[in-house]
Amino acid sequence: MREHTIEAMFRKNREGRDDADQQAQRRRLLAAILVTLGATTLPAMALDTGSGAPAVPPPALELLVLGSGGPGAVGRAGASFVVLVDGQARLLVDAGAGAFVRAGEEHLSLRNLDIVLLTHLHIDHASELPGLFKARAVSQRGPVQFRVFGPGASRDGTYPSTTRFMDLLFGKHGAFAYLRDFSAPLSYRVSDVKAPDGRPHVLLEQDGLSVTAIAGHHREAPAVIYRVDYRGRSITFSGDIDPQAWPSLAAIAKGSDLLVVNSVVLDPPGSPPQLYELHTPPRDIGRLARDAGVGQLLLAHLNPAIDSAHDAVLASIRASYSGPVLFSEDRMRVQTEVRPVP
Ligand SMILES: [Zn+2]
Ligand SMILES: [Zn+2]
Repeated sequence: MREHTIEAMFRKNREGRDDADQQAQRRRLLAAILVTLGATTLPAMALDTGSGAPAVPPPALELLVLGSGGPGAVGRAGASFVVLVDGQARLLVDAGAGAFVRAGEEHLSLRNLDIVLLTHLHIDHASELPGLFKARAVSQRGPVQFRVFGPGASRDGTYPSTTRFMDLLFGKHGAFAYLRDFSAPLSYRVSDVKAPDGRPHVLLEQDGLSVTAIAGHHREAPAVIYRVDYRGRSITFSGDIDPQAWPSLAAIAKGSDLLVVNSVVLDPPGSPPQLYELHTPPRDIGRLARDAGVGQLLLAHLNPAIDSAHDAVLASIRASYSGPVLFSEDRMRVQTEVRPVP
C-alpha cells in the first residue's frame, strides 16, 4: 500500500513535468535537424519553440540511441534503441543495461512505448527490460499491454524462448510477478520469431507502422533481424550477427533509410579469433550496406577497440559504401529524412 502511494506521487510528478519535457524534446529535435542540414545559425522562426505549437512537425520515423555499447562497463550503456513514430517513443529495440538511465536523461515519455523487439537474449541486450517495464507501468494509470517479439529457444536449451524469458521475469511464478498488478495493470503478448525460411516476415501492421523480421545468426544464440517501416521511411536493426546471417541482413535491409549495425570487431586479424564466429567486421559491414543500398549507416554496440580505430573502421567501410556513416553515442538521435529548415 505504501509503495502504491509512493508510485502515485511519482506519477503525479512525471505528469507535471510533461510540458517542460516536450518543450525540451522539441528543442533537441530542432537542433538535431539543423545539425543534419549543416546549418550554422538558428533562424528566428526556428527558435520559437515555446509554449505554442512546435516550429516543425516531428519526423515520421526517428531513432534514439539509449545504449551504444556493451557488454563491457566502459562508459556506454548496453545495446538499446527507441524508435519514435511521429515524435512519440513507440518501439524499444533491445534493452541493455543503462538504457533506463539514458531514457531518464532524455526525459523520454514512455506512455506510448508498447512494442518491444529483442534481437537476442544476451545480457547486454535484454537485462534492462524489468526496469524499463516498471518505468512504463508507473507512467500512466490505465492498463499497459506490451507486444514483445524475440527469438525462439535454442535446440540445446541453453537459451529460453522469448515467451519463456518473459514468463521467468513477469509470469505468474516469475521473479517480478508482482509487477502485473503493481501500478497499472500490466500484461504482455509474446511472439517467438523463428522465420526459418530465410525470408522476411511481417510481424505487425498497425496505424501505418510495420515491423518485419528475418532470422539472424549469432553462433549458438537464436537471433532476429528487424526492420521498421512507417510512411515511406525505414530503419533496419542487425543485432549481433555472424557471417551466416549476412544474406538475411542483405535481404531485409534492402533500401532502408537507416541501417543500425552492430560493430564489435575490427577487420581480421585485429580482434580475438573467436569473436569472428559471433560478429561482422567493418569490411563486410560496408559491403552489406552497399549491396542493400541503405541510405545511411549507424555503427552500434561499440567498444574501446572500435573507438580507438575510427579511421581504420571508416576506411574499411568506405572501400564499399559511400553513404553517411555515423558512430553511435548514448542519447544520439538520428533522422531518417533531411527536412527543410522552416
Ligand atoms: Zn550477443
Ligand atoms: Zn552483444
